[in-house]
Amino acid sequence: MTDSKKYYQKIMTNPTQSILSEQLLKTCQTLAKLGLNKGTSGNASIRAEDGFLITPSGIAVDKMLPADMVWMDFSGKAIGLRQPSSEWRFHLDILKNKPEVNAVVHTHSMFATTLSTLRLDIPAFHYMIALAGGDSIRCAPYALFGSQQLSDHALLALQNRKACLLANHGMITVGETLEKAFYITQEVETLCEQYLRALQVGQPYILSHQEMIDVQEKFKGYGVWASNK
Ligand code: 13P
Ligand code: ZN
Repeated sequence: MTDSKKYYQKIMTNPTQSILSEQLLKTCQTLAKLGLNKGTSGNASIRAEDGFLITPSGIAVDKMLPADMVWMDFSGKAIGLRQPSSEWRFHLDILKNKPEVNAVVHTHSMFATTLSTLRLDIPAFHYMIALAGGDSIRCAPYALFGSQQLSDHALLALQNRKACLLANHGMITVGETLEKAFYITQEVETLCEQYLRALQVGQPYILSHQEMIDVQEKFKGYGVWASNK
């Protein structure tokens, strides 16, 4: 057995790592079931001891097993039976630079991706935009998938935000937990659909900065979005 395989077995027999791998796979399966990702599009990661676990590259979710998840450290070293997602750079950079974030989800979902081709930030046309952490959801400039440039753009677009679009590509969401990142993904996809529909018939009214601050305050005590949950 190679050293890498031995080391990987050691990681995977660690109960915490295997629970996280199952959790990661389950989230990807739910994203696929909801049609938020199809084929091999999208990927996800979750913080783990000394690094993070990330989905494998180029494998459709229905063919993925928990053991296919790849462990990476913050120097970019990967250990696993598969290649890490081609987008490991932005997963690494986000988890490294945002200590409050423990999970990253990336999708090519229909409405977020369609909107991303317009290369527009989404303004506060609906109060739920506040869920992403501010008055807008930014659209990061285009860069080749898997590139460091894409990661740099994404990190900037995610400043003080939990979601961003990637031009001509899709969206990224982040959360303190994988569950929260998943919830935000669903909400952002819905917001993108609503914004696109509104744009087809006119110019939506945009909520003021103060109105959005009021929403942020109210979220602090609301359900899963409450700061202490
Ligand atoms: P991976 O299969 O390498 O994760 O790539 C999918 C993707 O969405 C690239 O942007
Ligand atoms: Zn992608």
